[in-house]
Amino acid sequence: CGVFGVLAPEREVAKLAYFGLYALQHRGQESAGIATLKDDIIHLHKDMGLVSQVFNQEILPTLKGSIAVGHTRYSTTGSSHRANAQPAVLKTRLGHLALAHNGNLVNTLELRKTLEERGCNFHTSTDSEMIAVAIAQEVDQGKDWLEAAISAFPLCSGAYSLVIGTPKGLMGVRDPHGVRPLVIGILDDDPRRYVLASETCALDIIGADYLRDVEPGELVWITEEGLSSFHWTEQPQKKLCIFEMIYFARPDSLMHDETLYSYRVRLGQQLARESCVKADLVMGVPDSGIPAAIGFSEVSGIPYGEGLIKNRYVGRTFIQPTQHMRESGIKMKLNPLKDVLNGKRVIMVDDSIVRGTTSRKIVKALRDAGAKEVHMRISSPPVTHPCFYGIDTDNQSQLIAATKSVADICEQIGVDSLAYLSWGGMLEMTQEDTNGFCSACFTGDYPITIPDDLKGSKLM
Ligand code: 5GP
Ligand code: SF4
Ligand code: MG
Repeated sequence: CGVFGVLAPEREVAKLAYFGLYALQHRGQESAGIATLKDDIIHLHKDMGLVSQVFNQEILPTLKGSIAVGHTRYSTTGSSHRANAQPAVLKTRLGHLALAHNGNLVNTLELRKTLEERGCNFHTSTDSEMIAVAIAQEVDQGKDWLEAAISAFPLCSGAYSLVIGTPKGLMGVRDPHGVRPLVIGILDDDPRRYVLASETCALDIIGADYLRDVEPGELVWITEEGLSSFHWTEQPQKKLCIFEMIYFARPDSLMHDETLYSYRVRLGQQLARESCVKADLVMGVPDSGIPAAIGFSEVSGIPYGEGLIKNRYVGRTFIQPTQHMRESGIKMKLNPLKDVLNGKRVIMVDDSIVRGTTSRKIVKALRDAGAKEVHMRISSPPVTHPCFYGIDTDNQSQLIAATKSVADICEQIGVDSLAYLSWGGMLEMTQEDTNGFCSACFTGDYPITIPDDLKGSKLM
């Protein structure tokens, strides 16, 4: 999911949130929502669909306030329907709270039980609502916003980057492992106007300057007096999702002071050092494989070119083609360039293989377009384990690398050769403190304990 928050009195905060969410659309295409607050008044609009489908010129001006909280949803828990769209809004003793969550709690069964024992009710099936309920309950017991939040978070285990709007101020929070990103920006060079967002690309679009990341286990509290910081957990231990860097986040977003584009180019360079092969053309699978393909071409000296054109308007919500159209081979999303590919030995670079189904189709399309050889190169190690922290990977049994050897995968997706980036190579290119990442989908080493009930749902 994508989360966004802004506190900026005298600015049209709903419009700022709209543009911020537009930049975070890649993080979730299922639903979108914005809540705005000023004192006791809250406005909320959310619905299924893309940001551009949910909001328009008529709706945005009705969302008045000095604080806005926004969300784009990608469902990992709770089914895909309107009631589960965010922000989650609850009324408390101190007025409304609006909460937007990115990540996934792992102790929902236990948490739900605890909250039900305290007399709480739920309207939706999401872990995100549970966090909101946990905070609201503490408020209703007599605590102020900060005390309530700080008492509620220790009940929540898992991944959560949160933006929470209240009548008193805006909160930004990251779980003690900081699995999902969250950044702070400053607007108009005015230290009373702050922005919170999943990625820096959402700051760029509204002209805000990147200040710093919210730290793992940190709560930032933003009011018209400025920003203050609280460390509410004793043992924060950074475990940023490495898949954010490899694939999920936008290439123009900054992490560790560089764009992810530059990082992904380096992964491709290392991949070429490890597993180059004779070929005529290096191409990336659009869009996520392109930076690594550029890096691969640089190091291998094999020319880079585009072999596939992506229709950027085909989202997740597009109308499914009829069976007849599918059979007649209509290519909805990726169309190969015949004259580029014909007769060529092609190195096709992608960031990852998950189930192997898209890769298989793409390889077939390249061969149909005349490619003589197709060599697949992947700029990360094999994905063998499912994610429990908010990226929607399948059950372990559906992950092709969990059950098959490289040779078997090679055969199944129909390539002449296949190589993955080595684990060591990936760490070397990552440069940062290599302990500072979750990389459980490559290793099965989950940094936050997964309760048995949940483990059983996804692991073989
Ligand atoms: P597959 O091998 O599963 O058919 O598809 C791999 C492609 O899916 C890659 O191009 C990669 O960019 C993309 N991908 C990687 N991780 C994920 C993920 O967690 N969810 C989805 N929907 N796509 C992913
Ligand atoms: Fe990211 Fe994989 Fe860890 Fe999930 S398991 S948080 S996708 S590194
Ligand atoms: Mg891709």
